[in-house]
Amino acid sequence: MINKKLLFFLMLFGAFLTNTFAQNANQSPPNFIIIFADDLGYGDLSSFGHPSIHTPHLDQMAIEGQQWTNFYVGASVCTPSRAALMTGRLPVRNGLMSNKSRVFFPDSKNGIPTSEITIAEQLKKAGYATHMIGKWHLGHREAYLPTNHGFDSYYGIPYSNDMDYVVREDLKSTYWDLWKVHYDKLKTEDFNVPLLRDKEVIERPANQYTIVNRYTDEAIKIIEQHQTDGQPFFLYLAHNLPHVPLFVSEQNKGKSKNGLYGDVVEEIDLNIGRIISALKEKQMDNNTIVVFTSDNGPWLQTDLSGGTAGMLRDGKGSTFEGGVREPTIFWGPGHVQPGRINQIGSTMDIFATFSAMAGVALPEDRILDSYDLSPVLLKRLEGERDKLFYYRERELYALRLGAFKAHFITKGGYGEFPRTVHNPPLLYNLDEDPAERFNIAELHPEILQEIEAAVDEHQKNMSMPKDLLVERDPKYIRN
Ligand code: MG
Repeated sequence: MINKKLLFFLMLFGAFLTNTFAQNANQSPPNFIIIFADDLGYGDLSSFGHPSIHTPHLDQMAIEGQQWTNFYVGASVCTPSRAALMTGRLPVRNGLMSNKSRVFFPDSKNGIPTSEITIAEQLKKAGYATHMIGKWHLGHREAYLPTNHGFDSYYGIPYSNDMDYVVREDLKSTYWDLWKVHYDKLKTEDFNVPLLRDKEVIERPANQYTIVNRYTDEAIKIIEQHQTDGQPFFLYLAHNLPHVPLFVSEQNKGKSKNGLYGDVVEEIDLNIGRIISALKEKQMDNNTIVVFTSDNGPWLQTDLSGGTAGMLRDGKGSTFEGGVREPTIFWGPGHVQPGRINQIGSTMDIFATFSAMAGVALPEDRILDSYDLSPVLLKRLEGERDKLFYYRERELYALRLGAFKAHFITKGGYGEFPRTVHNPPLLYNLDEDPAERFNIAELHPEILQEIEAAVDEHQKNMSMPKDLLVERDPKYIRN
C-alpha cells in the first residue's frame, strides 16, 4: 500500500518536473513573445548599467523575471544572428555566413533554405498560431518571406532600415558620415524601404517615424485576437531600430538625456510597456513568456548614432564580447523564477526551450546547437550549456568554455585592425576579466588543451553548405 502511494507521488513529481505547464490540465501551453532589438548594445538599458538612458519597463521585467548577464547571439551581424535565433543552429550550418557578404541586401538572390525548420514551424506542430512583426532579414523574395517559413502572418520592413538609400545630393556624404555628421538631418523618405503585410508591399518608403508604435499596435491586436480565440500563440517582434538611421515619433523626440539614440531606445521601452500592459489587462500575463534581447552589439563606427557595449570589448561585427553578448531578459510571472543569471545562454537555445515548454519533440535529422534552458528559467537549476562557438564569416574565431575564452583569430568589427591569427590563442577569463584585457594563455596551458579538444570534437560534425549570401542580382534597381 505504502509503495503504491510512493509510486503515485513519484509519478506526480515526475510529471511536475517534465512540464510545469502541464500541472493543470485546463491550462493551455504558454504563449511566447520574442522582442528583438537591432544593434542595441549590452550597456544600453538602465538595468544593464546605462547612466542616462532610462528604460523603466524593461528594468521592471528584469526585476520580475530573469536578467541574463552571459547571453549571446549566434553571430555579430543581422542576417546570421537572426538565422541562429530562428533555427537553433549555428548559421554556418545553413549557408547564411559568408566570406564575401555579411548580410542580405535588397539585390540578394537567396534566403533561408526551405530545408531549415524555423521555431515557428516547430511550434505549429503543437497547434500554435505564429506571427512575425518587423525585421526579418532572412530573404525578402517571396519564397523566403516569413509566411513561407512557418508564420501565419507578417507585417514589417523585411531588411535593414538603412538600405535603399536615396542619395541626398545636398549632404555630399560618405556612408559613415551619414550617421556621424548628418544623422539628425536624415528623413524617413531618404530610405526607400518597403513595409509588407504578408507578401504585399503596402507602403514605400515605410514611415519610420511611427514604425515602433505601429509594430506595437499590431502586436497588441494579435494579443487581443488570441485572448478571444484562446489559441496559444508565438509572436516574434523584431524592431528595425535602434539600427541607424534613427527615427522617433514626435511625442518622444527630445525626451531622453542621451540624444536621438536614447530617444529611440526609450521609445522602444515605452512600447514594450504597452505590450506588458495589454497582457495584464487581458489576464494573459500568467501564461505568456516574453524574451527581450538584441541581434548584435552596438555599431560603434556610427559614433553618437550607435549604442554602447558597456564594459565589454568592441561591438557589432566583432567576436569580442561587445559584438555578441546582449542585454537579455526573460519574463513570465508565475513561471520564470526571478533572479540574475550568470550562466551561459544563447538565442539558439530559445528553439529547444520553447519546444520543451510547448511539448514538441526536437527534430532528429539535423545537428542543433540548442540547449533547453527551461530548468534554469522555471526552477533556477544549472543549465546544460557550458560552451559557445564564435564564428565570423566561415571561420571559427573563438571558443568559450566555462569562464575561459580563447581567440584563435581576431579582426576589427569593421576593419579597424586586420585579420590576425593567434598561435597560441589569446586566452581570457571572462568572469575575472569581462572586458578581455589580460591575455593569460601562458598561465593556463591546461585550459588551452581542453579548448583544443573541444574544437576537435566540434569540427568532427561541422559541414558548411554553399554560401547563400554571396549571390546578387545585377539587374536590381534600387529606387
Ligand atoms: Mg543588427
